[in-house]
Amino acid sequence: MSALNGEQLAAALKQEPKPPQIYLDYNATAPLRPEALEAMRPFLEGGFGNPSSLHRTGQEARAALEKARRTCAGVLGCEPNEIVFTSGATESNNLALRGLSWARREKGLRILLSPIEHPSVREAGSALGTQGFQLDYVLPENTGVVSIEAFTAEFCDDTIVAALMYANNETGVVQPIHDVARVCRRKEIAFHVDAVQAVGRLPIDVKAIDCDTLALSAHKFEGPKGIGLLYVRRGCAVRSHMSGGSQENELRGGTQNVPGIVGMAEALRLAEEERQREALRLLALRERFEKDVRKRCGRCVVMGAGAGAARLANTSFVAFPGLEAEALVIALDLEGLAVSTGAACSEGTSVISPVLKSMQVPDLYLQGAVRFSFGRSTTMQHIETALEILERVVKQMKKGGR
Ligand code: PMP
Repeated sequence: MSALNGEQLAAALKQEPKPPQIYLDYNATAPLRPEALEAMRPFLEGGFGNPSSLHRTGQEARAALEKARRTCAGVLGCEPNEIVFTSGATESNNLALRGLSWARREKGLRILLSPIEHPSVREAGSALGTQGFQLDYVLPENTGVVSIEAFTAEFCDDTIVAALMYANNETGVVQPIHDVARVCRRKEIAFHVDAVQAVGRLPIDVKAIDCDTLALSAHKFEGPKGIGLLYVRRGCAVRSHMSGGSQENELRGGTQNVPGIVGMAEALRLAEEERQREALRLLALRERFEKDVRKRCGRCVVMGAGAGAARLANTSFVAFPGLEAEALVIALDLEGLAVSTGAACSEGTSVISPVLKSMQVPDLYLQGAVRFSFGRSTTMQHIETALEILERVVKQMKKGGR
């Protein structure tokens, strides 16, 4: 047989069977769960009404929208009219940070954040910094926790808004949001919580937390993409940055995404229903993974696993000194294991994680940190296969074979 030309070779490689993918990147996104899809189906196939229309077609959509709002409110422990539907947490975080700040501009100019926040909080803060607001930053300890002492030490007389996420998307480290909320309430500082990574993993009761606003994104808990919500405590002043349309309490104009909202509500309800059982199961998977990764891959460190720091049961951010994280992620992908270098939003840009940097992680570890995040479909068999792949790839890379 004569040698294949370039095109023939590419075509032959395309047909080669690929190893089945083991997906360990649930903090980036999760597949749509079938129950959410089923709940959405009537509104994708037939029920197309605009919930603001007065006729029956519109009112059917309105009824579904308000039912979904009641479901979300029930899970979060608030009133339905405290829920604002958005396109996801990026929008919710922007609405909260900008809206809380502009509504309080007469009272002061200072906003307090941490570098561990998601870019949609951090960069909304930076944008406000160019509009006359002043940003203060509180660093985490090297465990990844932003301590209540460090946080409150940064409060000034004219601090008007503070934000702290519930759990970090890269390390999974859980933050003391209940304590921070208590101090903020006493000092009359508006407090925003990005709770994106907490759904189905930690209890979320907005009244027990006592925050002013709280953001969620449906696709992180097996709902559809492009839909989220912002809890806004009743009576809390938030200025809308959208013009036109009085939907969502005049905070988010625009025709609501009814199928998305219905799917999100169902996914949220189920995530909460399954939370405790699932958290225990995931913890067993993570313990097994972290015990074996050290044994099988040589020197490596689990970020944020320091004494005393609580972490999400599904997240393991492991640094392999001497390796380059992006190269490792690509090599693992070729072997059928989908993981991430950290925040999906910075993927492809080979930027060193600001989260790890702010935790003062030494350079040696910064370069080689890879995040493994498990979800409802992850099994012990997946963990075992993932460990086999990881051991093989790490050993090859260390020998310079890749
Ligand atoms: N906050 C956190 C903690 C996140 O992990 C993400 C998603 N990476 C977001 C906000 C933004 O969510 P979305 O991309 O769905 O708007």
